[in-house]
Amino acid sequence: MDLSIVVPVYNEEENIHGIHREVSAALDGSGIHFELIFVDDGSTDGSFRKLREIAASDDRVKVIRFRRNFGQTAAMAAGFDAASGRVVIPMDGDLQNDPADIPRLLSKIDEGYDVVSGWRRDRKDAFLNRILPSILANRFISGMTGIRLHDYGCTLKAYRREVLDGINLYGEMHRFVPALVSQVGARVTELAVNHRPRLHGKSKYGIFRTLRVILDLLTVKFLLSYSTRPIQLFGRLGVYTLAASFLSGAATIYMKFFQNTSMNRNPLLLLTALLLFMGVQCIVLGLLGELNARTYYEAQGKPIYVVKEKINLG
Ligand code: UDP
Ligand code: MG
Repeated sequence: MDLSIVVPVYNEEENIHGIHREVSAALDGSGIHFELIFVDDGSTDGSFRKLREIAASDDRVKVIRFRRNFGQTAAMAAGFDAASGRVVIPMDGDLQNDPADIPRLLSKIDEGYDVVSGWRRDRKDAFLNRILPSILANRFISGMTGIRLHDYGCTLKAYRREVLDGINLYGEMHRFVPALVSQVGARVTELAVNHRPRLHGKSKYGIFRTLRVILDLLTVKFLLSYSTRPIQLFGRLGVYTLAASFLSGAATIYMKFFQNTSMNRNPLLLLTALLLFMGVQCIVLGLLGELNARTYYEAQGKPIYVVKEKINLG
């Protein structure tokens, strides 16, 4: 199998036939051997009926149906797990992504990249509550993760199968896959892709998505930088806080003996106590984190490194 196309579907009944038609039009006759995996994320409209129809008429179409709505990331993860293609391409189920871009993504992969990320250069969504927050979020994410992409949020991307193995997705994390896989040494690039307005069905997201993305970014940043050494983050914070507590305590004592400020009238005493507690807590959190990291890596037999090739080794 050359290619697995993964489509998350949540109440998209009017778009399903169109996706099947456009994907077939883009790939039939290209000689590319592909499967089209739809993941029905607990739709409450007629989406599943439509999916069953096309799966009955075309055995390249595969369908996974969730028991309830688990969210777009979960739907994509289920599709990735089921995918058997050498390359995996996720795509939105609302026809906003253009299947005609698939061959272009594939040729980028053939140039040797492990991940090709779509960039909706001319995005057809509401400006104020979708495009503007997205521009800011993309800058921020690029800065934090060090992987500079214009459009993390574009679902249309292409992955070489191997880089997805071992990547576990949670929350809203599907957009961070390029950053996560770059950690295991994947080569990432981007490609401008077509974007179209949504003609049928409703968008499932609004402005509040930005908040969810920022919170997930925090997790990703932590995982990228400190997952094997949490004490380096919490311990440092703890040491700084303890140092501040010490300074504040010394100032309190100095003011008592040399400036006659009574200790119980001095707000710095409270600050000293507060910083002392915070410092100790941070260090203890760091130690707990270290224990957790050991459980995580050792219980699962996960190495903390990624090997590319070996010579003269079994
Ligand atoms: N989707 C999903 N589960 C959800 C929400 C969305 O599978 O809980 C799918 C949805 O059907 C669509 C894709 O995720 O195929 C992107 O959703 P949408 O088009 O609403 O997002 P937008 O393009 O507005 O960012
Ligand atoms: Mg959409």
